[in-house]
Amino acid sequence: MIQPLIDPFDRAISYLRVSVTDRCDFRCLYCMSEQMNFLPKVELLTLEELDRLSSAFVSLGVRKLRITGGEPLVRRGIMSFFRAMSRHLDSGALDELTLTTNGSQLAKHAAELAACGVRRINVSLDTLDDAKFTHITRWGRLSQVMEGLKAAKDAGLKIKINTVALKGFNEDELFTLVDWCNAEGFELTFIEVMPMGDMEGRLDQYWPLRDLRARLAERYTVIPLAERTGGPARYVRLGEIDQKVGFITPLTHNFCESCNRVRLTCTGELYMCLGQEDRADLREVMRNDPTEAGLAAAIRDAIKLKPKGHDFDYDRQTVAGQMPRHMSHTGG
Ligand code: SAM
Ligand code: SF4
Repeated sequence: MIQPLIDPFDRAISYLRVSVTDRCDFRCLYCMSEQMNFLPKVELLTLEELDRLSSAFVSLGVRKLRITGGEPLVRRGIMSFFRAMSRHLDSGALDELTLTTNGSQLAKHAAELAACGVRRINVSLDTLDDAKFTHITRWGRLSQVMEGLKAAKDAGLKIKINTVALKGFNEDELFTLVDWCNAEGFELTFIEVMPMGDMEGRLDQYWPLRDLRARLAERYTVIPLAERTGGPARYVRLGEIDQKVGFITPLTHNFCESCNRVRLTCTGELYMCLGQEDRADLREVMRNDPTEAGLAAAIRDAIKLKPKGHDFDYDRQTVAGQMPRHMSHTGG
């Protein structure tokens, strides 16, 4: 029997998020600067290295892999990585292979993702208005994402829409978004904007989800659900329309005690927490040590560094626990 990965606070690590690229075809205002300096290619893990590392985690008890970025579907050859990971679904070692995407490339890839055993995907979308969409993503076109969503639906993928709650931006679309997801059969999760990367104007954009939830309660019966994913999401059902809605509230709700996840960057650094700097360089280990035992030992050592929690806090109009790195670096 292989010993599972247990951190110093007795939490079993069963969920790995893998960022496969720092690049993206969008430049969302809250995520990236317009002029980004991307990593040189030699810094990136190759697709073979991504396979080796992800597979090492699976062999140590990780049951769920989420592929993210940057935009994962803009990485060249990424479908061969999905095909490779599907062998762990076939063997039963992995319960779930999934991805978070901006949806721009889904029209091209949805059918093959489904063929690789992907069952559910998260698609990030903050507005249903063409002009606002291009404003918030700087470079995106809403119609392209809508085509992607249609292809994903046609391929039988279950879809969850992730929407960053932004004061003064999509407050007025709250019910439009809820009704649209309801009509399309999508789940909907709202995310509080986090203090990552370029912070200009961020405090003004912060729309606490407790306020958003109170607005939902003006129209619907909000029924809390017991469902927990080990992450920061909490779920409710809107009674009258039977719509599931999630809230990711790293700022108003402390979720760290049940955290079951770690994050691998596209350069092979393992971050133990989204909001802390504790990390280990697994690329170095992998490039210096060809044995699987060496890599497994390095992963176990890294997990020992997992901190109790993060320190994000917007209280008193200051931003505590702010992280200078961009969300696209650790994969959101
Ligand atoms: N490009 C893909 C996408 O947009 O879904 C995957 C990577 S993106 C970094 C992952 C998630 O992080 C997206 O849902 C995005 O909205 C969210 N995100 C990025 N910056 C954020 C911030 N400052 N606060 C909260 N969420 C953020
Ligand atoms: Fe790209 Fe996703 Fe960041 Fe938007 S949130 S810039 S789509 S990585």
